Amino acid sequence: SGTGHALEGLVVTRHGQNLVVSDDSGHYTHCLSRQNIGQVVCGDRVVWQPTGDNQGVVTAILPRDTALIRPNYSGEQRALAANITQLVIVLAPEPAPTPYLVDQYLVAAEQIGVNTLIALNKRDLMDEAALAAFEQQFGHYPQIGYPLIEISAKYEHGLDPLIDRLNDQTSILVGQSGVGKSSLVNALLPDIEIQVGRLSAASGQGCHTTSATTLYQLPSGGMLIDSPGVRSFRLGKLALEELANGFIEFREFLGHCRFSNCSHQHEPGCALQQAVADGKITPQRLANYLHMAEGMTPLHS
Ligand code: GDP
Ligand code: ZN
Repeated sequence: SGTGHALEGLVVTRHGQNLVVSDDSGHYTHCLSRQNIGQVVCGDRVVWQPTGDNQGVVTAILPRDTALIRPNYSGEQRALAANITQLVIVLAPEPAPTPYLVDQYLVAAEQIGVNTLIALNKRDLMDEAALAAFEQQFGHYPQIGYPLIEISAKYEHGLDPLIDRLNDQTSILVGQSGVGKSSLVNALLPDIEIQVGRLSAASGQGCHTTSATTLYQLPSGGMLIDSPGVRSFRLGKLALEELANGFIEFREFLGHCRFSNCSHQHEPGCALQQAVADGKITPQRLANYLHMAEGMTPLHS
């Protein structure tokens, strides 16, 4: 080592210390990771050096803009993926979504520091009444700042506005089992078999599977990081202050309650309760915050 020239690349997938690294032109190289550089994950930008024909060694991880962290049972934090810029929450009439689950995803997205949009899938199954009921529960999210796009992955309807928003982003899809995430991945990546084949060839093992966290190139631009683990990502434990900041429309009111340790439940002079009374925060969002806040502890008590 030392003689190879240092290049920058993007980690497309990983099996143990085996990585597939993409260069700017989309060429894949099988790399091994140096032991002492920390755990490389899908989406990492890295420094690597060629060591042979389509072989290389990764010598450093470049600083991550974002990291999707999953705490495991021993409380240890493990990164699932790096440098994601956007979370797409997939909802469907069946299984029925709850605003509580959506708010959990939104708080997680704010915590990571990524854009979020909501995709209502299986629109083909919804009549006017079903749509009206959905709007009743979820119609206010665009006003808070989260765009809502109606699609049908199965019939490939309404995908263009979604594809436009995936452009220039590194996105992940999250949502309950059965809402249509794999159908949507397949609709967005008509060439997924080809991409998996190229990865399989590059990885050397000849056996890349879609259960490994993988970065795909979207045909109209942008990237999608996908794996079962990424799709089922959920909010971990947060400090109360971080939780409140995860409700973005609360931010302008935080710090304005009469009591600095206000729980926002029943205290006089609560700025959040006042904002609900003034129609600036929905009762549903405050209720979901209060429910999530149970079991979370203040940073400064
Ligand atoms: P996942 O568990 O979120 O990955 O969901 P799947 O993609 O496996 O889809 C679950 C079921 O919903 C399958 O039977 C799909 O065919 C169906 N499905 C997915 N998208 C749509 C859609 O847009 N419309 C309808 N009617 N069914 C869909
Ligand atoms: Zn308060």
